[in-house]
Amino acid sequence: MRLDSVIFGGGAAGLWLLDRFSREGHHVVLLETNDLGAGQTVASQGIIHGGLKYTLSGLLTRSAISIREMPMLWRDALLGRTTPNLTRTRLRSDCCYLWQTDSFSSRVGMIGARIGLQVKSESLEVDERPAALANVYGTVARLPEQVICPASFLADLADQYSDRILKIDAKNGLQFNLGSPGEVESLTLTSPTDGRQLVLRPGQVVFTAGAGNARLREMVGLSADVMQRRPLHMVLARGNLPELNGHCVDGARTRVTITSDIDCDGRTVYQIGGQIAEEGTSLEPLQLAERARQELQDVLPGLNLTHVEWSTYRVDRAEGATNSGTRPDSIQVLCAGNVTTGWPTKLVLAPILAQEIASRASSPYISAEFDASPLADWPRPDVASLPWEEPDRVWWMLPESHAVPVRRAA
Ligand SMILES: Cc1cc2nc3c(=O)[nH]c(=O)nc-3n(C[C@H](O)[C@H](O)[C@H](O)COP(=O)(O)OP(=O)(O)OC[C@H]3O[C@@H](n4cnc5c(N)ncnc54)[C@H](O)[C@@H]3O)c2cc1C
Repeated sequence: MRLDSVIFGGGAAGLWLLDRFSREGHHVVLLETNDLGAGQTVASQGIIHGGLKYTLSGLLTRSAISIREMPMLWRDALLGRTTPNLTRTRLRSDCCYLWQTDSFSSRVGMIGARIGLQVKSESLEVDERPAALANVYGTVARLPEQVICPASFLADLADQYSDRILKIDAKNGLQFNLGSPGEVESLTLTSPTDGRQLVLRPGQVVFTAGAGNARLREMVGLSADVMQRRPLHMVLARGNLPELNGHCVDGARTRVTITSDIDCDGRTVYQIGGQIAEEGTSLEPLQLAERARQELQDVLPGLNLTHVEWSTYRVDRAEGATNSGTRPDSIQVLCAGNVTTGWPTKLVLAPILAQEIASRASSPYISAEFDASPLADWPRPDVASLPWEEPDRVWWMLPESHAVPVRRAA
């Protein structure tokens, strides 16, 4: 089958690009080896950052500059005013809160947080605060940063392009035929269900497979050490908790970032990241859960954590490598032969990555209408489960002295 483009990886980056290429008339398919978004996207907190978090040092950093246009673009997409059409993506919250611990350094951070961005914070009176922040000592600000449900975002785009998204077995059912390193002439897929073969002859190949980009690059004769992983150990807490989406800052540090959702049994789930998830990589799950309970008691005074159940998950952020090993300021794109590799660095930057890759791509060369009929019986990937809906996940209660596993999720 002749194609303009083949995209590997159906997380935020690949699906946004699929929308872009499809609208521009490319004959394009997206290949996914696991469930859609199974790396970082479904595990992410879904915050459409406007860059404020990256100005906490008091400076308008390069990260803040690259991100500052994004909230309006996403807001328009969620309302169906621009493309992609994300009207079926579930909005968890229309805003985030920023609050501080009661120390001098965090007051400095809150001041720094107002510099030069389109997203402006708005300080709240005590009676305007959400219930979860009713007893915090310092300033509470509202940020116009939306929070989406990443699984519904993945499903929204996957439904719109189901005719061109295929499940593959990247380990045993994928073979590249190369003209030279980085020059893909064709690729042969073997169906993961019935062993059928499909040969694709794309003009260009794009890797947006997150951590999977390293292996894919090796398969086409390109270097894999252009990627870095930065691990996180995230915490989940579920129970009778008030809704909360926001960041507790301490100076230039984000002490915790909490986003909340309702699980399939109607419980509130907190997804807890930020500094605690970076430092938590060296801790065992129960140690980290205990640490998170203490942290929540500190940053959310008066929050009732009785009967709350805890769990944790580990996930790596996969990005283009930087000299220092720290977060890149923005997206990363590498081109070699007819292969492009991209990492968005943040979910919110998927539109910029798609724009950059599309601007470097050749124009579509196949003039006929896209005909998906040769793909009709090929297996399709599911959308990955949210971490708290995974069937094998173990949850703990944390009594005073020791933890007791409670039950597996239904
Ligand atoms: C815990 C956490 C919280 C985050 N919170 C936020 C946030 O609130 N806001 C924000 O803007 N960003 C956030 N991020 C960052 C954001 O999630 C990522 O930058 C973004 O999701 C990366 O998208 P991606 O499509 O590049 O990669 P991924 O989401 O990892 O998707 C890669 C896809 O490629 C597939 N794949 C892998 N190998 C292959 C292969 N060989 N062939 C085919 N397919 C393959 C995978 O199965 C997966 O579906 C967070 C990240 C983490 C880890």
